[in-house]
Amino acid sequence: MSTVALKTVILGAPGSGKGTISARILNKFKLEYVSSGDKLRQNIQQKTSIGLEALKYISEGKLVPDDVMINFVSSELRKLPTKTWLLDGFPRTVTQARALWEKEKLDLAINLIVPHEVIISRVEGRWVHLPSGRVYNDTFNKPKVPGKDDITGEPLTKRDDDKPEVIKKRLELYETLTRPVIDFYREKKILIDFFGKTSDEISPQVLDCINKFLLDSKNN
Ligand code: ATP
Ligand code: MG
Repeated sequence: MSTVALKTVILGAPGSGKGTISARILNKFKLEYVSSGDKLRQNIQQKTSIGLEALKYISEGKLVPDDVMINFVSSELRKLPTKTWLLDGFPRTVTQARALWEKEKLDLAINLIVPHEVIISRVEGRWVHLPSGRVYNDTFNKPKVPGKDDITGEPLTKRDDDKPEVIKKRLELYETLTRPVIDFYREKKILIDFFGKTSDEISPQVLDCINKFLLDSKNN
């Protein structure tokens, strides 16, 4: 485990493997992790006011309004003990990206590029462990015991928004609203693209890149 100083976001379409690749990053490097989707799902489960509000949007595959998300994620970031973190699922619109940039200048934006047909077949087989956000898949990333989390043995669940009609909507919104966020970070010259069909293909490239990034920042 190496200690790092790095503010980074991971971008990519729904089901592109952000959660899986983030888990592999956390295994290797010591950083805080905030996934907006995981945090919202935990709030829904606990029936908090933000959870109840978000549920209306999430169940239809829509985005939660920007002002709600900006406040929510800002307060999650403030809770972190260090300024070394990985953000997943936020920002998702240019408004969110600008708001974040005003508060925190990022070092790196990781962009996962996975073909859409791969994504659709992948989300159909997806299972999650709600408390931790760990994800599994029926075909390529099976839990050791079917239906149970590897670490805690607790039950796995299906995400309501992984239904085919809802995932289609999420992919459409991704193209219209989130695509411009990629351009935003490209203009800031911190974006790196990673291509592949599987997380096994992509994650070594991402780990390698973070490693190089850290070596460079040490040498400068
Ligand atoms: P995956 O987890 O497969 O990468 P995803 O990125 O679509 O897919 P999550 O990040 O878990 O899924 O988010 C689930 C839902 O939560 C979104 O469809 C959206 O409704 C809501 N949500 C999460 N983050 C944001 C955000 N930054 N802005 C608006 N809505 C959000
Ligand atoms: Mg996710």
